[in-house]
Amino acid sequence: MTANARWLQIFWIVHLSKSFGNVHAVRHLSFQIESGTIFGFLGANGAGKTTTIRMLCGLTHPTGGNATIAGTDVWKDRQHVRTKFGYVPQRFSLYRDLTVLENFRFFGGAYGVPGAELERRINGLLRLSDLQEKVNAAAGSLSGGMRQLLAIGCALVHDPPLLFFDEPTAGLDPVHRQQIWNLLYDLSNEGKTIFVTTHYMDEVERCTEVGFIDSGRLLAKASPRALKSSFRVRLLEIDVEPLMPALVRLRNRPELLGVSLRSGSLRLYAQEPEKLMARWREDWPFKDLRLLGERWVEPDMEDVFTAYSQGYDGVLKESAS
Ligand code: ATP
Repeated sequence: MTANARWLQIFWIVHLSKSFGNVHAVRHLSFQIESGTIFGFLGANGAGKTTTIRMLCGLTHPTGGNATIAGTDVWKDRQHVRTKFGYVPQRFSLYRDLTVLENFRFFGGAYGVPGAELERRINGLLRLSDLQEKVNAAAGSLSGGMRQLLAIGCALVHDPPLLFFDEPTAGLDPVHRQQIWNLLYDLSNEGKTIFVTTHYMDEVERCTEVGFIDSGRLLAKASPRALKSSFRVRLLEIDVEPLMPALVRLRNRPELLGVSLRSGSLRLYAQEPEKLMARWREDWPFKDLRLLGERWVEPDMEDVFTAYSQGYDGVLKESAS
């Protein structure tokens, strides 16, 4: 790998694997991420996200394969790799009794940032995180959104090229979520790489690239637009009454892979939805349900996540990587 290629690809992950006895938490994960990417890492509970991040942070050793961050091996050189990233955990990780400024100084000291340089960085981070007016407030007294901004600021104090975020906006209201995402855009614009796990589909839309992991395997890695176009079929939405009995009945039909409720309509996942609808127009099989309307819709990220996580292979193209 040349020096330039190293800077272009912040991550280089090759067959990274982790087993706990018989549990294969991560299986042969291989991918690269370019610098400046906002990478959304998605998967259902237990899919292997945390184990992957723990390996990438040098906190647990891979049982197979390897990974580098900006050219540094995440396990063999785990002391050094910690200077390459900041980590923002889901749970509040700061010192509640210390003020905003004291937290910044504590983390800066822990990373060995020299005094004058640290004060200059703290001033910049206070501006970036919009916390200037709270500089002397105890961290424990801040609102949830401000605490998260402070956690991000502290993760940046040693100026790493990469930030890991574990569900950065869990439990925050929409205004604070927007504020956190604006900060992530600013960081990406400065060339930082963001690696973020989230369960919010609207946040997945904000990522420049998304990876889906299931049972420890990477199923797809592409931009949100490319993932949405990985659907082989259009989706059928129907209006039907009464709604809940219809949802339950349709969920059990063998010709449907799945059904989801969206704004009072039912969205149907089927391998051949056109043929299915044509048959239903001729002979609607549910005498106790009234079909009020039908339309074709384009898939959104929630559909993509549902299709990948539920294994609806019949509606997806071969590969979205
Ligand atoms: P969540 O969204 O719930 O945090 P996740 O995608 O982060 O899930 P992991 O926590 O990485 O998933 O877990 C992946 C698999 O590895 C699960 O089956 C989990 O039970 C298993 N696992 C994780 N850590 C250990 C451990 N220390 N010992 C044994 N099994 C583990």
